[in-house]
Amino acid sequence: MQLSKEDIGRLRELLASPRRIVTVAHTNPDGDAIGSSLAMREVLTAAGHEVTCIVPNKYPYFLDWMPDIAEVVVYGLEPERAAEAIDKADVIMCLDFNSLSRLEALSDTLAGNTSAVRVLIDHHLSPDERFDIAFSHPEMSSTSFLVYTLIETMYGTGAISRKMAEMLYVGMMTDTGNFSYSTLTPELYRSIAVLAEKGIDIPSIHNLVYNSYTEGRARLFGYAINRKMEIFHGGKVACMSLLESEMRRFGFRQGDSEGFVNYPLTIKKVRMSAMFLAHRTFIRVSLRSRGEVDVNLFARKYFNGGGHRNAAGGKSFVSMEETLEHFRRSVEDFAAEGGFRTPQPETGE
Ligand code: 5GP
Ligand code: MN
Repeated sequence: MQLSKEDIGRLRELLASPRRIVTVAHTNPDGDAIGSSLAMREVLTAAGHEVTCIVPNKYPYFLDWMPDIAEVVVYGLEPERAAEAIDKADVIMCLDFNSLSRLEALSDTLAGNTSAVRVLIDHHLSPDERFDIAFSHPEMSSTSFLVYTLIETMYGTGAISRKMAEMLYVGMMTDTGNFSYSTLTPELYRSIAVLAEKGIDIPSIHNLVYNSYTEGRARLFGYAINRKMEIFHGGKVACMSLLESEMRRFGFRQGDSEGFVNYPLTIKKVRMSAMFLAHRTFIRVSLRSRGEVDVNLFARKYFNGGGHRNAAGGKSFVSMEETLEHFRRSVEDFAAEGGFRTPQPETGE
């Protein structure tokens, strides 16, 4: 995939002299948000810039092992340090999100710096903010793959260190569901070949990310599937919900629900899966789908959210019961509009 020559030219020009750069990624940062931020930090620092990575809240504990992750400033834990870096920044790079609202509490602080050049580096559909330079590539499976492409274009693959290769691999792996459900292109595999040449230990990265959970998480997963999963709309739609009290019972830690929403899609007939997770003031909605069923559209229309065609999210500000009722009604409405009518390639049913 070719990046726009004009935007590359403008970025080169911007980075021609040493800059104070802040990278920001979305709330509930995942492997892709963290991986792409850390890799950008690494390459830009090597190029002589001063870089601070900021995320709105804490990343999941199964990423704790990632190289340099201790350098990431968590706004929720150190708001002054984050605000100071943002204030001083002459470049703000927005990674792995496309709307400032996804930064939640951090968005006001970011809006306070009106003079910094804003650069978007993202793979979500329909960016809704104005950026000075925008690399918006929804056809790419992860922001980390986009960052890889950017580094390759600007600095060459020689600039990729082993550490950077690990960071990028984590993002590529997690955002594609371990290379299973996203746009998997020959270019992506070529980039992985380059990362492998840097000496990364792929089985070990896999183990560190996917096999590092607590016992409570395994039991919570069993509980959610066995006791909380509902299947309806002729078996095509599944949903699960977890209240704060239920999460507490299993010693819930940030990141423990990662992957739950994907599991109902292992049932042959299920085309759409939803997960509702109670937070203090709202319910976080996660949506996944198979094939042509467009949960980005669904999230935008019914849950004030967005994302990608097969993975999206949003929020609900009413009770869990009302949220589930709204979801069931929305599914009927979505179906009436033809949301499930499109041909489904993979099962031959
Ligand atoms: P997850 O379910 O993993 O939290 O999110 C799935 C996808 O939907 C991600 O690409 C994420 O960026 C997007 N997403 C999640 N929540 C929201 C939201 O509230 N608004 C928008 N626009 N996108 C969201
Ligand atoms: Mn991503």
